[in-house]
Amino acid sequence: MADADAPEASRPPIQAVMSPLTPFQQDCSLLCCTEAMRGTVTDSGGDPELIESAIAERAVTVEKVLITHGHLDHAGSTKDLARRLAVSVEGPHEADMFWIGRMEERSRMFGFAGAMEFEPNHWLKDGDTVNSGNVTMDVIHCPGHTPGHVVFVHRGAGFPWSGTCCSRARSADPIS
Ligand SMILES: [Zn+2]
Repeated sequence: MADADAPEASRPPIQAVMSPLTPFQQDCSLLCCTEAMRGTVTDSGGDPELIESAIAERAVTVEKVLITHGHLDHAGSTKDLARRLAVSVEGPHEADMFWIGRMEERSRMFGFAGAMEFEPNHWLKDGDTVNSGNVTMDVIHCPGHTPGHVVFVHRGAGFPWSGTCCSRARSADPIS
């Protein structure tokens, strides 16, 4: 490898920026390929305008929305955000249709304004991969938190992204 490549090789291939955006302090994440500065919004709960501001601030081109699971604070603004950004939605596993299909009902129940049902462009399953920029992550179906919960793993960087549980300790919170 040429010396000129050394700084590039030391740069992490993927970067995560987290923004607590909802009353449940759920972390909507911007996962970014540092080489191409292209990325994904992962778990689009919260205010779409705040998410768009975070995207603009970091000069990242968002290529898609990834959803780890169908709880409203992780996926409530998916329909609105995907439409604003004109991007597709991937995930979660189809077993979370139960949650996604009741988004508006749950939204009213928890006083969580604006959540909408949506249909992902691609449901994900164990063994799938998702791509953004020059980064590929493996999809692991990890039922438990919800039946359709998926985790994204960048194996080269040792980077797992669960959307919940791994990013913050949680105990009795039934919906995050
Ligand atoms: Zn959850």
